[in-house]
Amino acid sequence: MRQGILWREWRHQDEADRITQLRMLRLVSLADRHLLVQCVAITPENSSTRIFVDAALTGPLVQITGSGTTVAMAVADHVTTPTESFTPSIELIQGRQALDLKAGETYRLDRVVALYTSRDTVDPRETARTHADRAVEDLATVIDKHRDAWLARWRACDLRIEGDAAAQRALRFAIYHLLSAANPQDDHVSIGARGLSGSAYKGHVFWDTDIFMLPFFILTYPEAARALLMYRYHTLAAARAKAARLGYRGAFYAWESADSGEDVTPVFVVAPDGQVTRLLTGEQEQHISADVAFGVWNYWRATGDDRFLLDAGADILIETARFWTSRAERENDDRYHIRGVIGPDEYHESVDDNAYTNGMAQWNLEIAAEIANLLSERFPEPWRMISRRLGIEPGEPRLWLDVAHDLYTGLDERTGLFEQFHGYFDLEDIDLAAFVPRTAPMDVLLGRERIQQSQIIKQADVVMLIHLLWDRIPPDVRKANFDYYEPRCGHGSSLSPAIHALVAARLGDTARAQRYFRQAAEIDLADTMGNAAGGIHAGTLGGLWQAVVFGFAGLNFCENRPEHHANLPSSWRSLSMRFQWRGQWHELTLPEGGARVSANEA
Ligand code: BGC
Ligand code: BGC
Repeated sequence: MRQGILWREWRHQDEADRITQLRMLRLVSLADRHLLVQCVAITPENSSTRIFVDAALTGPLVQITGSGTTVAMAVADHVTTPTESFTPSIELIQGRQALDLKAGETYRLDRVVALYTSRDTVDPRETARTHADRAVEDLATVIDKHRDAWLARWRACDLRIEGDAAAQRALRFAIYHLLSAANPQDDHVSIGARGLSGSAYKGHVFWDTDIFMLPFFILTYPEAARALLMYRYHTLAAARAKAARLGYRGAFYAWESADSGEDVTPVFVVAPDGQVTRLLTGEQEQHISADVAFGVWNYWRATGDDRFLLDAGADILIETARFWTSRAERENDDRYHIRGVIGPDEYHESVDDNAYTNGMAQWNLEIAAEIANLLSERFPEPWRMISRRLGIEPGEPRLWLDVAHDLYTGLDERTGLFEQFHGYFDLEDIDLAAFVPRTAPMDVLLGRERIQQSQIIKQADVVMLIHLLWDRIPPDVRKANFDYYEPRCGHGSSLSPAIHALVAARLGDTARAQRYFRQAAEIDLADTMGNAAGGIHAGTLGGLWQAVVFGFAGLNFCENRPEHHANLPSSWRSLSMRFQWRGQWHELTLPEGGARVSANEA
């Protein structure tokens, strides 16, 4: 992980007692994102032998055409034997080829794949071919540059935990995969739920990126965060079109997004019980619009990147706020309601006034008004341009505030509990503890109908709201809701345990936080959900990082300054990390010397 190289090494002994040593290197270059490299070194140890090489790629050049983009891959190979060094014949590249090897000598096969698309260059075929040929000739340099790029990334983004080797490994695993998935040089792409490591969810982009992964990039790699947000900006037109199609104003982002931002959520799925089910997430998981806005604001607050706010961020904040004003309806009780949605908890569909959705919509409306005000004061001329471009009426920010003010939140002042949605408290209260230990998710055990009639939830929902809007929620309300919802959560989504770890840690329940942290870490490292073959859970890995940074280390940006309130597990001797705040690197070291946050230049 430190070098971004997959090494494999083994000795093979056959029935005739011939021993052959094999060493393999595989990498996808971080320094030159067009290159993939594979090297195989073979040494027959005790007898000369004949080997057969089968090439996995079918040809030197592949061209795929779909959605108007052409992808070209070119392969270049090189063979080094003890006596010569040559480019193999086309037969070796394409088919099965015999090689006679002498005992004690090492033979090496190198292979470079260069990949270009018509988004990169006018002639991806030719560019890929030239690039592959050049790279294979100077492979040592290609590998060195890749290694240097990774070392530089680790210097900025590493997080060290002493006293808990498993937690350290889980964190580096998370950081490694997050870094692998981001590309600051291309702001027309984002990160799918499984990164590029597997085909589950077909590479689609969810709120996982904006809410779970983005904070890691904002604080350690802001260029990558900016590119992820520009992807949301480039897909704003599609979000506007989706809102308009459904009769709303502003921007309703795709629940599942791909290259154009058009909603690509499947309409039917095969449920765990084998039934073909109509999927409503694309129409009803409307919280996505507020989640995207939250990412924009989170980035801007941490970086102070006003240019981004003026050029792109403000449009997103305002268009999402507009969506909520058209979406929420004032009813007889003089309150605004948002009916017929799905919250983060997908076990309950078509619900009214989901606390998470309404809470985030309220925040979205208020922040849009605040930003409009701030921009009009600080940047009057650019603000006039934004107003013209978006057609903002003078009274409009006032309307956002009015809707926010009268939006129903589901908070019962008496108990301090948010009702997750209208009618939730009347549902069957099933004791989850009675199902421990279990190997299947609760919706599979209980069936779809029964779970919809129960209080069992798929993932952090009100608890998610508490995490995101922590500073707006009074301490007793945070605790009352965590205590109420935590025992009712089945963690049917991989995203859930890390957020429970984070909130438990912030509430001071370190032991519970540690249990949830381990549960989150094991999803990929021990395949505890049984779906690792579909790829790593990129959102969960971002959540794991957040659980450590915002939970255990308790990093917080109160009144626009970094502060922290650590809740380290007792076995953790120390935790240290760097993060960027408003263009300056900070070093956080806990707990020695009295916990402190110190600023120093990069
Ligand atoms: C997820 C939904 C998603 C659907 C189709 C489900 O497993 O929970 O959020 O829309 O798959 O991709
Ligand atoms: C979760 C969603 C998530 C999706 C992709 C689903 O199981 O319920 O919240 O966005 O997976 O990770």
